[in-house]
Amino acid sequence: MEMTEKLKFKLCILGDASVGKTSLIHHYCEGYFRESYLSTIGVAFLTKTLDMTINNRDFNVTLQLWDIGGQSIFQKIRANYLKGSQGAFILFDVSNKNTLMHIDDWIVELTRALNVKDMSKLPLVVIGNKIDLDFDSRLKKRAAEFLKKQYKIEIPITYTSAKTGKGMNEVFELITKLMIKNTNIR
Ligand code: GDP
Ligand code: MG
Repeated sequence: MEMTEKLKFKLCILGDASVGKTSLIHHYCEGYFRESYLSTIGVAFLTKTLDMTINNRDFNVTLQLWDIGGQSIFQKIRANYLKGSQGAFILFDVSNKNTLMHIDDWIVELTRALNVKDMSKLPLVVIGNKIDLDFDSRLKKRAAEFLKKQYKIEIPITYTSAKTGKGMNEVFELITKLMIKNTNIR
């Protein structure tokens, strides 16, 4: 008998202010891009369900997407909201190098809040957003090298535009797969 397995995941989206966290979540959940959202005060979440087949098994996954405000004054509050996350996106803006430099800080904050000892067990995707804008083409190589040097494991990096939607479905499918694999359900 065919069975669809229902799963629920909490996914948090981190990154500096203005990298496009709110835009990415809203475009993905609502199907369109708006030019402006109120800057996120504290946190908010949206949900999205998706169907996925992995190794001939059908899954119906509900993603609870937590948009965590990037401002540093929220750091204490953020730790509480991060708890219980089964996966994370860390965003940077490809048109703003500083936001790439801060990826490391976000990884530290995340692993601390979730008490992660082994990074290879944490479903995490780093996302370079705003690829519709002009950006230094060497940045992609630099980002990959930086993460490889800093962490012994390979952290996937993908590129999106929350504006055009390019790469968007793919990155949500990728993180969902990583979270399913991490649940150890048989
Ligand atoms: P957040 O602070 O990380 O939640 O960032 P927002 O989603 O509020 O986006 C900050 C600004 O960047 C807004 O003006 C957005 O319209 C713009 N933005 C977000 N994503 C993209 C993108 O992929 N491409 C372009 N061109 N602009 C974007
Ligand atoms: Mg926001």
